[in-house]
Amino acid sequence: MPLITYDRLYVGGRWTEPATAATIAVHSPTTEEHIGTVPEGAEADIDAAVAAARRAFDDETGWAKWTPERRGEVLERFAAALDARAAETARRVSLQNGMPIAVAQNFEGMFPALLLRYYAGLMRETPQEETRTGMFGGAARVIREPVGVVAAIVPWNVPQAITFLKLAPALASGCTVVLKPAPETVLDALLMCEAAAEAGLPEGVLSVVPGGRELGAHLVTHPQVDKVSFTGSTAAGRAIAESCGRLLRPVTLELGGKSAAIVLDDADLASNIESFFAATLLNNGQICWLGTRVLAPRSRYTEVVDTVTGLARSLTVGDPLEPSTQMGPLVSSRQRDRVESYIAKGLSEGARLTSGGGRPKDREHGWFVEPTVFADVDNAHTIAQEEIFGPVLSVIPYGSEEEAVALANASDYGLGGTVWTSDPDRGEALARRVGSGTIGINAYVNDPSAPFGGVKSSGMGRELGPEGLHGYQVLKTVYLDGAGT
Ligand code: NAD
Repeated sequence: MPLITYDRLYVGGRWTEPATAATIAVHSPTTEEHIGTVPEGAEADIDAAVAAARRAFDDETGWAKWTPERRGEVLERFAAALDARAAETARRVSLQNGMPIAVAQNFEGMFPALLLRYYAGLMRETPQEETRTGMFGGAARVIREPVGVVAAIVPWNVPQAITFLKLAPALASGCTVVLKPAPETVLDALLMCEAAAEAGLPEGVLSVVPGGRELGAHLVTHPQVDKVSFTGSTAAGRAIAESCGRLLRPVTLELGGKSAAIVLDDADLASNIESFFAATLLNNGQICWLGTRVLAPRSRYTEVVDTVTGLARSLTVGDPLEPSTQMGPLVSSRQRDRVESYIAKGLSEGARLTSGGGRPKDREHGWFVEPTVFADVDNAHTIAQEEIFGPVLSVIPYGSEEEAVALANASDYGLGGTVWTSDPDRGEALARRVGSGTIGINAYVNDPSAPFGGVKSSGMGRELGPEGLHGYQVLKTVYLDGAGT
């Protein structure tokens, strides 16, 4: 397979020489082979990108001042350029992080263009200002303005979809953006730059500077940045929130999760097994909102454990580029070590392994872990409390619905979750009692029109829906007609 290489960075809307000769080499998690190289951004590249973003944003006739229609035309072209690259985007993501190609085609190939069109449309269709009759006789004009230069930092697990959760609303609202992708997934990020260049995004509106956490920290604290939007681990989110707190800089944080999949005593799990798989083990267990704590009623505990175990054992584990593969490798050897250490912890704390626990025997290379299920897990166990970010499910017994809710809520996190039942009303009543930002009944599907985000250690702020757009806007009030006189 030919190497995918880039020798320039996309800074300020053009391909530029990187400030240093440092590079990032990407390795396949499936074959462990070298698959591509890109320049590693340096602080000077971030500085140049932020300066270009600042100039573009502050330009009195520039991007921020354009009408939503005019920006929308550029974003539609960007969407079309991404559509033309959708298959290659999916392939690159799958090559780099092990995402099964069928999943990559949906999430990574399709979502970015869909989000650009959605937010371009929302800006065109919804008025960005209103006039309110004041209480003291005057009136007030309330105007939504773009917040400014946005620093966007994203992880490797669903890199393109997560990038566009930020880029699409930020660009549509009139912000300019400097994006720092994770070093594990840079080949898709630079392909996205090719689409941006083809679409003719004006100078300074978008820059992409790949690098690690130090570079990310430099971007977060850059004096010319107005807003930070971060998706990643809770530990990094805390560090970023501290910096933003000091700077009084607005920040959106989409962080980790340890969500509950609550199986009620009337659930027909076997008939919903595909949805259950998607809600608990999708993308090799590397999605923040997955329901990795399966809460099962004691009255049907053995049956639920058998169903979940049967699901894990039935999965096709292998090369993520094969369309039939349901589970690929983890992103890196470091991630596999981390997942294996949690499996060892589960065993040492007394949980009962019913599926997996090791590496697939037929894979000589790659960072694979077998789909793993633990039964007899106590919600206080480490594997039930900490985010594993791999294909490991814990089945936890409960007695009453009260207890199920209490267990679901006994977590530092609050991001996703599901309720499985044959009675949708009962499911919704229970879902309303779970302390999380999102939750699904008999399925978990992020809908672009509805806000997504977490509570507690899962973060703050919302993406998607009109609320996702508001995250890139500030409100300005102009008092009219001498209010108060
Ligand atoms: P990570 O936090 O290590 O890295 C994420 C990104 O942040 C990378 O680009 C990294 O280089 C950068 N980064 C790390 N520390 C930083 C710092 N101090 N300052 C600035 N940038 C920094 O996370 P990861 O291991 O790449 O991704 C997995 C984590 O992301 C999981 O915890 C997962 O739950 C979370 N995640 C959350 C969501 C969500 O929407 N809530 C979505 C996907 C992933």
